[in-house]
Amino acid sequence: MMSMNVSEKDIQNIIQSVLQNIETVMGKDSSTQNQTIAPIKMKTITPDATGEIRAASTTHTITNGIFERMEDAIDAGYQAQIEYVKDYQVKDRERIISSIRTAILNEKETLAKMVYEETKLGKYQDKIAKHELVATGTPGTEDLATAAFSGDDGLTIVEQAPFGLIGAVTPVTNPTETVVNNSISMLAAGNAVVFNVHPSSKQSCEYVIKLINQAVQAVGGPANLVSMVKNPTLDTMKVLTESPKVKVLVGTGGPGLVKALLQSGKKAIGAGAGNPPVIVDETADLENAAKSIINGASFDNNLLCIAEKEVFVQESVANDLIFHLLNNGAYMLDQQQLQQVMSFALEENEKQVAQGCSLDNKRDYHVSKHWVGKDAKLFLEKIGVVASSDIKLLICDVEFDHPFVQLEQMMPVLPIVRVKNLDEAIDLAVQAEHGNRHTAVMHSRNVDHLTKFARAIETTIFVKNASSLAGVGFGGEGHTTMTIAGPTGEGITSARTFTRQRRCVLAEGGFRIIG
Ligand code: NAD
Repeated sequence: MMSMNVSEKDIQNIIQSVLQNIETVMGKDSSTQNQTIAPIKMKTITPDATGEIRAASTTHTITNGIFERMEDAIDAGYQAQIEYVKDYQVKDRERIISSIRTAILNEKETLAKMVYEETKLGKYQDKIAKHELVATGTPGTEDLATAAFSGDDGLTIVEQAPFGLIGAVTPVTNPTETVVNNSISMLAAGNAVVFNVHPSSKQSCEYVIKLINQAVQAVGGPANLVSMVKNPTLDTMKVLTESPKVKVLVGTGGPGLVKALLQSGKKAIGAGAGNPPVIVDETADLENAAKSIINGASFDNNLLCIAEKEVFVQESVANDLIFHLLNNGAYMLDQQQLQQVMSFALEENEKQVAQGCSLDNKRDYHVSKHWVGKDAKLFLEKIGVVASSDIKLLICDVEFDHPFVQLEQMMPVLPIVRVKNLDEAIDLAVQAEHGNRHTAVMHSRNVDHLTKFARAIETTIFVKNASSLAGVGFGGEGHTTMTIAGPTGEGITSARTFTRQRRCVLAEGGFRIIG
């Protein structure tokens, strides 16, 4: 290492010479003499007469993130991301995210209503709760961490850097909620995102993307950090997956989507289908189990991928569990009523094609889309049953191979399978989960039983003695997500998922020169 002594006089000489250089650069002796340095103009954002947001320093209306052509959305998102990493610091990202959170919370009722009316799925009240959850429970920049190594050879840091522009595909079951959750996570990590949303939710998604753009720009952020193509199709999806400007693909949906993204040749983060089983063993607190199962399985009419989809209960406690389920808002379908429900809620797989939660084309039935996410009371009305308006969930006593056990039904119809013992419960639950490794739930007071099931099923989320909702932060610890990337292994996605590692090394040299 070189060292030198610098006196106060030397320092004054250095300052003097720097000042002289500045004067020369500013052209003191030329025509610009006496010119004062203009203050840097901050970009101010003001709403125009039509309520659209306009940048005061530009003459064109800032676009709101909605594009007729996917190519234009990609170009705009690509430029926005370059500006985002160049001109904005991490604290700016945090200000932008905070503005998005507030905008979503302010409009959670409107968003819930729009999604409910457009998709005709689920429950309005639960959709308000979902918007609240993603706005408050999705981590921001605090999720990012820098690793550091220091020692005799210097200092090395590993930063979490953005990928750039991300292409994201969203499901009809959590449309705007996924847009909000993905946007916060991806922007926190320094990315921009273009969405190809599910076509049956495009109006609600257009609304939320405009809202996000307004929120970003209201605090001085760049336009089009979050955008979508107005009319998403498989063709626009192809443009998205093939564009060299899109660095990563993120898909939330069924197995067909995940497979398509993984075949793209790009890095893909895939959040696929689930069919979460619940085991209730003979040691369980049966009342708590019943209440938790009803909460999870009836929430938003069972649309969530994490929701309880079938129950395996030990024969010795099955009647007691059913008693508590009936006391807490369930209605038991008898065998004849079950046949009636199957006749309209399921469709025979005559063409032998794969659909829904599985790529298996040999399944006997598919779920009827008309009945996905509908209220329990509509099912009852259809079969001519007059029941109390408190009924949230229909239950039925079935064998393991029943289609309601095997299919990801996404309806408030929960099949219950009686089993002889724990080993049988685990064996059947693992089979019913179909290797998705998504979510499983168990009610038991025996730690060995809980461990045995968790090890056998290996799901991304394993919830003990609570509703499945606890697995995404509804009444459980840990942050929330709407994109649970089981197939590709990222798990409960957050800002750090959407980063790549960058190593920065400060050393004395590649190797020491001796002598
Ligand atoms: P879906 O697979 O029908 O559609 C999801 C998205 O993918 C839509 O935007 C759709 O247009 C697109 N898509 C579908 N098939 C495609 C293909 N072959 N090629 C290209 N794009 C395709 O799913 P959905 O009905 O909208 O949502 C429900 C499914 O999503 C359920 O299976 C549920 O378990 C799953 N889901 C998973 C998560 C998770 O985090 N793992 C979260 C929500 C929903």
